[in-house]
Amino acid sequence: MVATSFDYQKATSVEQAISLLQSHDGDAKLLAGGHSLIPTMKLRLNSPALLIDVSKIEELRGIREEDGHIVIGAMTTHYEIASSDLLAKKAPMFVEAAKVIGDIQVRNKGTIGGSLAHADPAADWPAVVIASGAKIKIHGPDGARTVDADDFFTGFYTTAVGENDVLTSIHVPVPPKGSKSTYAKFPQPASRYALVGCAVQLTMDGNKVSDCSIGFTGVSDAAFRDSNAEAALKGKELSGESIQAAADACADGVDIMSDHFASEDYRKHLAGVFLKRALENLK
Ligand SMILES: Cc1cc2nc3c(=O)[nH]c(=O)nc-3n(C[C@H](O)[C@H](O)[C@H](O)COP(=O)(O)OP(=O)(O)OC[C@H]3O[C@@H](n4cnc5c(N)ncnc54)[C@H](O)[C@@H]3O)c2cc1C
Repeated sequence: MVATSFDYQKATSVEQAISLLQSHDGDAKLLAGGHSLIPTMKLRLNSPALLIDVSKIEELRGIREEDGHIVIGAMTTHYEIASSDLLAKKAPMFVEAAKVIGDIQVRNKGTIGGSLAHADPAADWPAVVIASGAKIKIHGPDGARTVDADDFFTGFYTTAVGENDVLTSIHVPVPPKGSKSTYAKFPQPASRYALVGCAVQLTMDGNKVSDCSIGFTGVSDAAFRDSNAEAALKGKELSGESIQAAADACADGVDIMSDHFASEDYRKHLAGVFLKRALENLK
């Protein structure tokens, strides 16, 4: 199908993008990589009167270390994250996840900010930002605010980003010494979206897990942090026994999705399998 007609404007600053959004009263959309928005426009699930291209706003790009955090600009592409030496060294699950998103075209155009704002329940980034303890920075008509990744995803394709807001950056705390992280995913064979994706960050004190955060995507209508699985690991050695206990505890009490790709039971099973794989990677 073909999208309905729309106007197009390239914004040169975050302030301009916000004022264009405000002046169109809910009838404008930000355009980042276009890899989620354009397909929905072609299917006429979205028919904005104006597309505001934010991809050339320089302040929204790049990856840098600042005040104990790694700051990733919203318009940083999946490819740029996959190629980042800083993230490979300090937060490797970001690089691992970026490498398994879609195909090379998707990775070249798609952005982390666009993905987080879109909040597809099968997208990879939500699990990773949750497990990393990131804060998401949002600019709106009333100024800037930050939202914990745990609170950012509010439901099916919904987030803390308001109608006239721009998601500007992701702030990832530099993990403490002794930390390691990984991302394990079962991709839908055609689209590569996650049937189940599991991001894990562990901090070890000697041979015991002193801290641990686990984010899941693909399992429920929004990505979530799995505190039951985390509790099964904290204070324990990373052994076959503790890994199995975490896998048994995961996705408990969660409203699990069921669709033509995977039933509820199968998704729950996959959540355990991919948590185990992630933890085995970190042993
Ligand atoms: C064939 C295919 C395979 C894919 N496979 C995967 C996969 O395996 N894993 C995965 O995670 N994703 C996958 N994707 C999705 C891809 O990662 C998209 O790039 C991503 O979901 C959206 O990013 P974007 O930059 O393209 O955003 P856009 O499509 O431009 O925008 C998406 C939405 O976010 C809004 N938005 C964009 N930027 C901002 C911002 N800064 N602030 C506020 N709102 C904003 C837009 O208005 C729009 O509503 C796939 C896509 C395709 C087409």
